[in-house]
Parts: sequence; structure tokens; C-alpha cells
Amino acid sequence: MNQTPRGNRLHIALFGRRNVGKSSLINALTNQDIALVSDLAGTTTDPVYKAMEILPIGPVLIIDTAGIDDVGMIGELRIEKTKEVLNKTDLALIVTTKEYGIGSYEKEIIETIKEKNIPIVVVENKSDIQEATTEKRREKENQNYPFVEVSAKNGEGIDRLKEKIIETAPKEVEISLMDGLVKKGDVVVLVTPIDSAAPKGRMILPQVQAIRDILDHDAFMVVCKESELEDALGRLSRPPDLVVTDSQAFSVVSKILPREIPLTSFSILFARHKGDLEELVKGVKAIENLQEGDEVLIAEGCTHHRQEDDIGTVKIPNWLQRRIGGKLKFSWVAGTKFEEDLTKYKLIVHCGSCMHNRREMLNRISRAKAAGVPMVNYGVLIADVTGILDRALEPFKLIIKEI
Ligand code: SF4
Repeated sequence: MNQTPRGNRLHIALFGRRNVGKSSLINALTNQDIALVSDLAGTTTDPVYKAMEILPIGPVLIIDTAGIDDVGMIGELRIEKTKEVLNKTDLALIVTTKEYGIGSYEKEIIETIKEKNIPIVVVENKSDIQEATTEKRREKENQNYPFVEVSAKNGEGIDRLKEKIIETAPKEVEISLMDGLVKKGDVVVLVTPIDSAAPKGRMILPQVQAIRDILDHDAFMVVCKESELEDALGRLSRPPDLVVTDSQAFSVVSKILPREIPLTSFSILFARHKGDLEELVKGVKAIENLQEGDEVLIAEGCTHHRQEDDIGTVKIPNWLQRRIGGKLKFSWVAGTKFEEDLTKYKLIVHCGSCMHNRREMLNRISRAKAAGVPMVNYGVLIADVTGILDRALEPFKLIIKEI
């Protein structure tokens, strides 16, 4: 169940006052007793992220915003924290009760969510114990949002809520890896070097995801190492429709593969899957304008164990400085933190963002754009540094005009 990467899950955030039963609602939705439930208001204090399966919705990431629901919390701070969560939210559940209806608290949150164009479902919990006043009924009727009455306690209305979530959730949460590149009946060759850096006994996530996505497109595939590529091509009765290789093997593969066969890399597939390939390619072109002393922000989606030759702190700074022939000033951020004021930077280099969903990455790209700062990601930058970018982008040229 928890094998689906976090970044590929539908992100559902619950907003509501402290005592409307958000934690009980999560338990009722998931049929599990995992959220901390208490009769005391505000048992949990920070937004909590939980990867889970809601049948029949599928893998989701629930964001329990218990920490930012305090009506006593100063409005501005609450809005700021809400916005932080909303940067990654695909669907917002406003949880209320008959007693509260859509009061000023709920309206404030709804206004913030509306600015971000995120779909909303209003959930009125505790249907088993409370009666709405006439005034609250009227308020409710004035709302145009999908609305469901539930009792998290006895399970009433939970199935209706799941149906509403399915109806309301955005359909285009993700662009799949192979969308527009592979169609039914196509033959794809995946080239996956198995060297000392490859994890023992398993494939890495991008390869596994690519295999699954090719199957989802009703296409066939051959998976081989670069050393077996010639042999594999010779055994096929027709040339493959697409070849995808690990970036490290790109130059070897591109020499073996006839020029007319489309070739790209896993990291370019992911750059589009997670972000906006067009913007990231514009970002890599901006490297030419960097000058000695310019500030560059390197952003990573999580704090991970750094190896000696770490990509974010060693390799990328070295590549960039070698390219411009001078020293640059680097800053680093990791995790959910992304600097408020980006204007001092001349370039932002972002990791592949496997822990983020597409919405969050797009949000970061548009914030960089609004601040006038070009942004590139590791995948596109590595493709550029290793001289493979142009050929690796060719398969996308029919889909994305501006690259
Ligand atoms: S790509 Fe980003 S989010 Fe994924 S492991 Fe690396 S640093 Fe973390």
C-alpha cells in the first residue's frame, strides 16, 4: 500500500476548527485508527502528513492541518500557514458542523483556498448529534460547494463523501511519464545500467514507474543494460518507438542508436512529470547569463544523507562555476522550506522533487517566474552539462512547442 511514492498521491488537506472532528473523519475515511483522536480540542499541533489508501479513491496523502486551526491563532499567521499547505494540496476538505456552519472562520479559509483555484468539498460532521439552526441552514444553502453531511462516529455519509472526493478531485493531478510519447502497441527500450551505484537486488523508482506507465499505455518494452543494447535492437523485428536511458549511459546509447530513433532520459521524463519542462529548459539556458558573484539557490525537497561527492552541494556548484569560469554565491534550502523572497537570486536549481507532488513543484516554478528568476532542475541541468539535452528533448518537440 505505502509503496506509491508520496509525490504521486492525491494530496487531500482537511481544514476546520479544532473540535469539528477532523481526526475522527480521517479514521472513518481510511477505516483505520491512526489519527490521534481526543475529546479535547486541538490534540495535535502541527500539520501531519499521512500516506494511505482510501478505497476506491486509491493512494492519497492526507494533510491533517490540526496545528493551524486554532481560531485564536492570529489571522495572518493562520493564512500564511494555510497557504504553505495549499501549495501542495490537490483537494481541500472544509470540515465543519451544523453548529458552526460556514462561519467567519470557514469563510476566511475558503477565500484563501479560492485564490489558489483548489477544489473544495464542505463536510458537515457530527450529523448524529447536532441540529442546524435556521440561520446556519440558510448560510449552508448559500454555498456553491459540493457538500456532504457525515457522522465520522457512526460512518453515516462516509461513502457519499468518498464519491464526492472522486467527483471533485482534479483529473490532471499528474502528467504520466509516457503521456504523448507512447501509444498502444508501441515498443519501448529502457536502458538501465547496473553499476556499483545501483541498489542491490532492485530497480530504482524512476525505472519501476516507467515500466508501470508503459504497461498502462498498453505498450511493450525491452529492458536491458547498455552493454546489451545492440543485441536487444537486433532481436526486435522493428525499430523501437522510443528508447529511454539513464543519463549516465546517454552518450554510449546515442552512439549505438540510429539517429532517427527517438531517445530521451529518465530524468527528462521526470522533469516533465513533476514540473514544467518548458520553463526548466528556459532555466538551463539562463546559465549563460550568470556572472561571477551572482547568487544561486539550490533547493532540495528533502534532507537526505549527503555523500562525499554530493550532487547539490558539490557537483552542481562545481559544474556551474566551471561553466562561467568564476565563483558564485550559493544558498541551500531543503524540505518544505522555499525562500519567501527569491528576487536576489540569478538562478534556482531544484532537485528532481520526487517527494513533492506536481502541484508543489509547479507552484515553486511559478513563484520563481513571478520573481523573475529562472529555474532549472537537476535532470535538465545534468542533461545540459553532459551534452545530451538537445537529443533528449527531441521526442517532446511535438508535444511542447517552445523547447
Ligand atoms: S530528488 Fe529531491 S525530494 Fe527526491 S530524494 Fe532527492 S532531494 Fe529528496
